[in-house]
Amino acid sequence: MAQSLAQNETVVLLVEDDRDDFFLTQDVLQCVPNHKYSVVWAGSYERANFELLERTYDVALVDYRIGERTGLEFIREAGRRFPDTPMILLTGVIDPHIDRAAEEAGAADFLEKGAITPELLDRSIRYAIKNARRRAILDAVLSNSAAGIVALSRSGAPFLWNKQALRALAIEPEGTEAVTPDMVNAGLAQIATEGRLPDQFAATSGQVFETGIGVVPSDGQVIVFHEITHRMRAEEMLRKSVAEAEAANMAKSSFLATMSHELRTPMNGILGMARVLANTPLDNEQTTYLDTIRVSGESLLGIINDVLDLSKIEAGHMEIEDVDFRIADLVHEVTTLLAPAARGKGIDLAVFVDPLLASTLRGDPLRIRQIVTNLIGNAIKFTEEGGVALWVDRVEDNGRPQLRIRVSDTGIGIPESKRERLFKRFSQVDASTTRTHGGTGLGLALCREFVSLMGGHIDCASTPGAGSTFVVLLPLSVAGVDAPDRSRARQLSGWRMALIGHEGPLASVMRAYAASSGATMDLLACGPNVLQRLGQTQSTAIVIDCNAAKSSRDEIIRLIAAEQGGPSAPFFVIADTVADAGGLDIEPDLLLSRPFGQQSFERICNRLRRRASAPVARTTAAAAAGPQRHLKVLLAEDNEPNQRVARAILRGAGYAIDVAANGHKAIELVGQKPYDVVLMDVNMPSMDGLEATQHIRQTEAGRGLPIIGLTASVMDGDRQRCIEAGMNDHLAKPIDWDCLIALLNRMDAEVYGTQALAS
Ligand code: ADP
Repeated sequence: MAQSLAQNETVVLLVEDDRDDFFLTQDVLQCVPNHKYSVVWAGSYERANFELLERTYDVALVDYRIGERTGLEFIREAGRRFPDTPMILLTGVIDPHIDRAAEEAGAADFLEKGAITPELLDRSIRYAIKNARRRAILDAVLSNSAAGIVALSRSGAPFLWNKQALRALAIEPEGTEAVTPDMVNAGLAQIATEGRLPDQFAATSGQVFETGIGVVPSDGQVIVFHEITHRMRAEEMLRKSVAEAEAANMAKSSFLATMSHELRTPMNGILGMARVLANTPLDNEQTTYLDTIRVSGESLLGIINDVLDLSKIEAGHMEIEDVDFRIADLVHEVTTLLAPAARGKGIDLAVFVDPLLASTLRGDPLRIRQIVTNLIGNAIKFTEEGGVALWVDRVEDNGRPQLRIRVSDTGIGIPESKRERLFKRFSQVDASTTRTHGGTGLGLALCREFVSLMGGHIDCASTPGAGSTFVVLLPLSVAGVDAPDRSRARQLSGWRMALIGHEGPLASVMRAYAASSGATMDLLACGPNVLQRLGQTQSTAIVIDCNAAKSSRDEIIRLIAAEQGGPSAPFFVIADTVADAGGLDIEPDLLLSRPFGQQSFERICNRLRRRASAPVARTTAAAAAGPQRHLKVLLAEDNEPNQRVARAILRGAGYAIDVAANGHKAIELVGQKPYDVVLMDVNMPSMDGLEATQHIRQTEAGRGLPIIGLTASVMDGDRQRCIEAGMNDHLAKPIDWDCLIALLNRMDAEVYGTQALAS
């Protein structure tokens, strides 16, 4: 067809048994203007079939009578075998019955021989060819479609389908058998349930199909079958994988809970006993061994905690708290804990907390403490000279208030190319530092996870060889009642302070504190003419950094005294520990121990304000003996090593404690003696701490009694379970003894009016 059209010629097969009629029709075609028709004559039914087999015709004109047979018969049969050749029926007379029969047989048109004109015949042939081409395209679309398609007439009879539909309906014609509408109907009936086609069905082949029905406007329906076997299988596999993953996750969580308990309980015994041993007479060698046990134990505990935290984050169990906390206390605790490490390396550690930052914030103090501990721990680890400074203040980021925490050091620094690795798990910038400094490469990864869980951001700036600064920004949330005390801004207005020391974290932090309270500060390097320079500055307060002044410390102090007949300007001494500064000839106004931070500066401020109004007599630097403690403590704990540890440490802190080995015993003892506080292990045999607490709460003696739960598990629900059982608070094991003793001291002070823990 394409070939003859390209030649602008239409090839026509004229099936006609009457010779005259053939010439007549041929003449009509020859008269068509502007188009060439080439006509081949088939005078019999057989000849016509032969011609169609031999070559491709653009169209066939078929006479109603072909010898003994009819044109309708021919169109029906040949039309099926040669669907690309449209056939037009020609008759001697117009008869409406023949017209309908021609349409049903598949004729493209029906014309009366006597009425045809060149124009009429030409138009009928053109339309027939065009429709045949459309039909060919439709067939190609149908047979190439992945979906099975069946078209139904308005009466519901199938009249069009493709082989994919036959496969879905399990219709398999035998040999050359033609598929009939009845066969398709039977296939549809087979899959229907209650007279309706199902949305989904499985064919006998095992393939699964989805059924869609489209309505053809004003003419029947199109049924579409999509094979969804693969999708179903993939969905099934996905469902299975999700179920397996969930089961594995559950198993992991319970494994973690069990393991954490199993690992942390003995760690409590190891670390506690090391602490108790340290307070017994030991020679130097033994002390070194003990230190190794303690340091290794603490680092093992750190690793266990880090791995557990990361697993909890992965399992989506890490919950961020939103509670009130005092930022200065948090910073003080962390830096006090890390100060010995800095001291051991001979480097400085100083802290600036902006006095204008609200003192009580809302957030997750535990996670913030972990972040700060990690950053300062790293800074100390990677610094050999100079020191580490922690800065906490408030900044605006895109109009939103942020808590900014910066840790800067003067250490080895981090090359630019390695910085992007910093916050990845198990990655160290330089593998060789792992050997010298240890570490798992988890700390910063955890910091970043925590910071992002809190909606914040962490970054690092660094110059190799000069040092690094890590900056954490967290959305700042201030506790409702608390506002910064703005009067602090001018509290030292007019004071001129001199720091005898050297440039470093202490000098930077002192300068920042002086500026924040309205004072000025001069840094005077230690040296032969320091007194002369001091005289020139006309300082009204002097601070001496023992570490910088070193051996000339006493000399400087003596000279100050000699020159002025006793130091008229108040003077303060900062040493590593109070003991280090002992034995001074002249008592300073205050002896301050490192790390220098907000509390130290507050003490200076208070002293200066008092001096400004009424100078007071000097006090001695000797530390007062620890006050007698009265609080009566009951410990319910089944593990014997842990009992021994608690007894030894709490007795060392001045407390008498009784021990109950299980819940029953605890209830019994509470009934017999007026305890002030109960430390209740949650996991105990025979009766656990939760049940014991519930019983105690029902007794007269137990109603207002503070009960603190102790648990080695790390799951989030622990604290809640303790509170629900009636406990007042909850401490995680291994117990932070300093924290517990501080808590007991506060209670002792409240109940018996004894002196609270000296800072
Ligand atoms: P690790 O437990 O090994 O210290 P971290 O994730 O805390 O793990 O740190 C990863 C690595 O980043 C460290 O091993 C070190 O190479 C580098 N790093 C971290 N902090 C500092 C710092 N203040 N100065 C130099 N390098 C640092």
